[in-house]
Amino acid sequence: MIKTLKGKVSVLYLSLVALIAVVGITASANLFNLSEAIDGLMIANYKSINAAAKMTEAIERQDSAVLIYINVSTQRGKELFTASNEEFLKWFNIDANNITEGGEGELIDNIEAFYSRYINLFLDLQEVLNKQGTEQANIFYNDKILPEFINTKNALKELSLMNEKAMFSSKDGATEHAKNSMYFVFGTSIFATILGFGVSRFFTNRFLTPITQLTQTMKLVKAGDLNQQAHINTQDEIGELSIEFNNMTKRLQQYEQSTMGQLLVEKNKSLAIVKSISDPLIALDNDYRIILLNDAFEGIFKVEEEVLVNKHFLEGIRNGEIFDFISSAYKSEDESRQKIFMVRSGHEDFYFNVIVTAVKDNNAKLSGLIALFQNVTQLKQLEKIRTDFIATISHEFKTPLTSIMMGTDVLADEGMGVLNEEQKQFVQAIREDGERLAKLVNDLLELTRIESGRAVYKFQKYAIDDIIDCSIKPFYQLAEQQDKTLYFKCEEDLPYVRADFEKITWVLNNLISNALKYTDAGDEIVVGAEAKANKVVISVKDTGRGIPEEYIPHIFEKFVQVKDGDFEVRGTGLGLAVVKEIIQAHSGDIWCESRLDVGSSFTFTLNTGDKELRT
Ligand code: ADP
Repeated sequence: MIKTLKGKVSVLYLSLVALIAVVGITASANLFNLSEAIDGLMIANYKSINAAAKMTEAIERQDSAVLIYINVSTQRGKELFTASNEEFLKWFNIDANNITEGGEGELIDNIEAFYSRYINLFLDLQEVLNKQGTEQANIFYNDKILPEFINTKNALKELSLMNEKAMFSSKDGATEHAKNSMYFVFGTSIFATILGFGVSRFFTNRFLTPITQLTQTMKLVKAGDLNQQAHINTQDEIGELSIEFNNMTKRLQQYEQSTMGQLLVEKNKSLAIVKSISDPLIALDNDYRIILLNDAFEGIFKVEEEVLVNKHFLEGIRNGEIFDFISSAYKSEDESRQKIFMVRSGHEDFYFNVIVTAVKDNNAKLSGLIALFQNVTQLKQLEKIRTDFIATISHEFKTPLTSIMMGTDVLADEGMGVLNEEQKQFVQAIREDGERLAKLVNDLLELTRIESGRAVYKFQKYAIDDIIDCSIKPFYQLAEQQDKTLYFKCEEDLPYVRADFEKITWVLNNLISNALKYTDAGDEIVVGAEAKANKVVISVKDTGRGIPEEYIPHIFEKFVQVKDGDFEVRGTGLGLAVVKEIIQAHSGDIWCESRLDVGSSFTFTLNTGDKELRT
């Protein structure tokens, strides 16, 4: 029993080759037989016909020889007769040994008898001629010899006709034989074709059925039905393949069962963790459809997860402001972004620091986002108490400070009498401290106003070079006095920015005045502006003393001032904090780059007013 597929295919091919060989051999054998039969029959008959013709010629010559013998010359006639006799007997012997047809033997016997009599009569003629003369010899010839001559000739004619007939009939037989052979070969070919077709179909089906079965099973498994098994019992390669395939699906099934179970446990764990987070949390897909939300979210927004799942964020939570932030944060492709929002729930106001984190799949493709609503209500309340307190204190400071400054002015102007040098220095010191205190109070008031949301912004479209021009102007003289280079470098045709003119002027004033404060004679300060994407980037760069690396991350925090032994601290540490608040209120970014003894660069961005370019 052949087991391998290769063996089976070989057997199929070999059997087809054998079939072709059988057909070929049969056809060749038939053709050979046919040609043999034709040859045998035709050659034998032809020999007899030829011999009969030669004998007829010989006897005719003998007849002439008899007449010559009687009437012309006995010697010549005898010679001729004898020569023809030999010729006749030669062909007679050939014919006598080539009897092929029924009745041919008797005919040969007849010819022999007629011819013998003819020969004997010629001997008798010699006597008649010798004894009775020419006339009697001619009478003897006509009466006796001529009839035997005619008998012999007729018998030879009959022999020739018999063989001719046989030849024709053997030709017909050969034609018949050829026809039969053709039918036989044709029949064998048809039989072989049908048999070959049947055998190959049978075997092909036998080979292909398990493959088709295996393919069907594979398709089902691919569609997810891991219970499928291929039932193939052949012991060939396909059988082996199906056994391996079945093992594989079994293992896949086991793996799926174990991983599914594990995954379910893990998923439930993760869900439990998400659900138990005390801050509201919502997960959205790429199209901002809700995937899940936790209990805290349900509580604050008064919604139910079952109702909202698969719905668009805005369908469930009708807060366009939060949605705008979430979508812009997601589109920005930043890892995470946050912003504080106030949410009214029932009769209470809550403050949430909304942190948007993009979720990426294994291929680092964005697949959705998570928005965590960090509850900062308490912090906000504390902040409010603090800013209210600072605002009140600062305000309370303002009136006495004004009196102190006015008093020092009067004293310095010597309106209350001439001061000696020591008194003048005291008054000057009081004035300088008073000025610092007044700046601190003003900065604090500004900051509390911004932080508490009381600051009012008037956003409009402006040309940034106008704002920079206006901000830089007051500092040119001071820079010159301090022997510093201050200039403005701006790209041409910058787009408009959407800004509050006064607030941005305030920002630039602070940055330029810091630059002047923290540079020395000979240093350079450049204010620049350029367009990038849909923003305008503004920077104030100086070649001053720079900021130590450890201070840079905190430089925008309140009351942060670089402590430098050689350098007297002259500010309040609030300027940059206010600057940052203002830029953030403009939805811009601000950052600082600095290297000690090389210089600092403060850069911020403003959104363009619209897409239209300035002309
Ligand atoms: P201040 O009123 O003290 O200047 P700011 O908030 O404006 O307060 O600045 C905070 C601190 O940042 C400053 O005390 C100073 O140490 C540092 N700083 C600000 N700008 C520069 C600058 N251009 N070069 C070096 N240091 C600077």
